[in-house]
Amino acid sequence: MELDICNVNKRNIKDFTLEELKEKLKEMGEKPFRAEQIFKWLYDDRASSFEDMTNLSIDLRNKLNDIFVIKEFKILKKQVASDGTKKYLFDILDGNAIETVLMQYHHGYSLCVSSQVGCKMGCKFCASTGIPFVRNLSSGEIVEQIMAVERDEKIRISNIVFMGIGEPLDNYDNVVKAIHLINNPKGLNIGARHISVSTSGLVPKIYKLAEENIQCTLSISLHATTNEQRSKMMPVNNSYPIEELLQACRDYIEKTHRRISFEYALAKENNDNLEDAKRLVKLLKGMLCHVNLIPINKIENGRFTKSSNENIMRFRDYLNEHGIVATIRRELGSDIDAACGQLRRKNL
Ligand code: SAH
Repeated sequence: MELDICNVNKRNIKDFTLEELKEKLKEMGEKPFRAEQIFKWLYDDRASSFEDMTNLSIDLRNKLNDIFVIKEFKILKKQVASDGTKKYLFDILDGNAIETVLMQYHHGYSLCVSSQVGCKMGCKFCASTGIPFVRNLSSGEIVEQIMAVERDEKIRISNIVFMGIGEPLDNYDNVVKAIHLINNPKGLNIGARHISVSTSGLVPKIYKLAEENIQCTLSISLHATTNEQRSKMMPVNNSYPIEELLQACRDYIEKTHRRISFEYALAKENNDNLEDAKRLVKLLKGMLCHVNLIPINKIENGRFTKSSNENIMRFRDYLNEHGIVATIRRELGSDIDAACGQLRRKNL
């Protein structure tokens, strides 16, 4: 992997929102509208160097080049699954690597992005557990995952899910900034309703997100219906138990009027019987929500194994019959370990 020695002191220009770039240009003695021109070069024309920005003076292009860098990730590895799902391992130019997964649906392309190098949450069923946490990704590095895949595949992506490596709400500021860059019509111009943020349940950050006035979808990794059960799967539950989590969700719905998506990974003889389904109905009754049932992916040395298809369907039917909209998530990319929780582990 390459280390970008000559660029270490330069700022990644994709870390700047349009407003921040305007401020920066003012500081440099330039007119703020130059920021709009630069944004157009970056996000419309996908310029890879300041030299290409021909409507800026050579003097300004040189100045930009001294201060900023246009970071473009290198592809270390790309795997294509039989269903067309593509998994990328990117060199993020500081000696670290992250994964990003491209999925094709009938309505377009969806990209699963990472928010951190590693993860601190320690969920027992997740492949990111056991890999040490290294650092947060910057907003520009989150955005660059999208741009790098679009460059490589010559496509435009229409949906973004923060379901790759990391806990997005543990990297709150950079994730919120990335959402603004992704959503801004002068940035990547992807509608907020096409952006999903998934969290293991960092309650204070859910309250904070509700105040941001972003129309993105919130996904909650619930996975269990009692605190005892959930704490065994997800240590975060010891800090923020189910009642507190669901109260934060109710508040989020009241403030944003947005439907929440609850993720529930079904593991055999763990959380997949009718008693669980009954408790789940009780917990979610009356909430503006949807349940996404995920057949759990067994990870290496993991103790959780996938529920049988019968149990998964019985679980879904019970929820649907009792007023909770539930669907089973299609498993994409399982032959290249791109399915949930399988990211990055095998490449270290
Ligand atoms: N940290 C965030 C986002 C990353 S995980 C979160 O916890 O939500 C994205 C989703 O994949 C989460 O719902 C997570 O619980 C789920 N997941 C992780 N490992 C899995 C596995 N082995 N099988 C099924 N789903 C898994």
